[in-house]
Amino acid sequence: MFKNIKELLKDDLEFERRAVQIYKDYGLEIEDEDARKMLLTFRKDEMGHMRAIENKLTKIRTEKLNVAFYCPRCGWTLVYGCNPKTGQVIKCPACHAQIKLFINEDGEYAVEEVF
Ligand SMILES: [Zn+2]
Repeated sequence: MFKNIKELLKDDLEFERRAVQIYKDYGLEIEDEDARKMLLTFRKDEMGHMRAIENKLTKIRTEKLNVAFYCPRCGWTLVYGCNPKTGQVIKCPACHAQIKLFINEDGEYAVEEVF
């Protein structure tokens, strides 16, 4: 589960790691004090992004990430909870459509309206 999102998050994490290293390298080399401070501030920002991505990956690995989708009829957020059962149906609080959680052919969570 979460195969696609895990791959995207891992790519993002690699991007952030490289950015942290680049800002650090240039930040330590540059002589202009203001530019140096700016680059090291960027580095700090990227480290925050890294922590957020690592936290999300940990939640996926430990099954503590809520499975949520937008209602296919109205766009309202539907939360199925952590590690939900396949076939679980939620009544959209906004439009009252019955929305079923299922596993698609890629092995990922998906939703469809039940009529
Ligand atoms: Zn809805």
